[in-house]
Amino acid sequence: VAEEELIKAKEQAEQAAVAKTQFLSTMSHEIRTPMNAVIGFTHLLIQQSPTAQQLKYLDILKFSAENLLVLINDILDFNKIEAGKVEFENVDFNLHGLIDNIRFALLQKAEEKGIQLKLMIDQDLPDAVIGDPVRLGQILTNLISNAVKFTEKGKVSIAASVACQDSDIITIDFEVADTGIGIPADKLEYIFESFTQAASDTTRKFGGTGLGLAISKRLVELMGGSISVRSEFGKGSVFMFSLAFKRGLKSITRHP
Ligand code: ADP
Repeated sequence: VAEEELIKAKEQAEQAAVAKTQFLSTMSHEIRTPMNAVIGFTHLLIQQSPTAQQLKYLDILKFSAENLLVLINDILDFNKIEAGKVEFENVDFNLHGLIDNIRFALLQKAEEKGIQLKLMIDQDLPDAVIGDPVRLGQILTNLISNAVKFTEKGKVSIAASVACQDSDIITIDFEVADTGIGIPADKLEYIFESFTQAASDTTRKFGGTGLGLAISKRLVELMGGSISVRSEFGKGSVFMFSLAFKRGLKSITRHP
């Protein structure tokens, strides 16, 4: 009897998990559409020569709406990962180009804060590798935008180097280092868990969801790699991850 009850409980738990996944996915889609309208029209209003006071309110509206959209996208993504529904692409892409594009996309934010965004790419890095450029881009974007977000002065450096290689497989170490606020030692071991933020006032001060690192860690691991962090409170942080790629023949896709 005990075994029967156990099987029943397991079935119920599995059904509940499926229902939760479905609910989150439907809700996220339903919320995304109106949120895009809110953001789009806020952008339009900002361009209509508002007064200084109106502009201040519109900026807050834009910040809040964009933050909510990031949260929704993150929940949707995290949910998909937890449900084991993420599929990875295997395409031939230009690694150097991808890193360049991501740096370029985040450069304006860094420059607004007076932070340098340095790139250190190993000479030996192959131009073409086979993997998922969208997911790799998502991980790098998460780490680099965090580094910029949590750094007030100094620099953020992005490095990519060859860790080991043979004729087909090449393992690449990626590193995102900053001279920012750092992460307290007692928070460091939980930092990759979902909805974890190092400081209680982080969301109010910097925005964010506490899902970016959890998503990044899962994506890296699903792609067969590993991720880690070193940080000194008040001095800065270094996030590192390694991924193995098949060598590409020639780069046939350009991303993003
Ligand atoms: P979010 O940035 O959306 O809050 P993340 O999962 O990306 O969520 O990060 C979780 C927390 O880890 C952040 O809220 C912040 O406290 C800390 N953190 C992440 N990256 C850095 C960094 N480069 N420097 C300092 N703290 C960081």
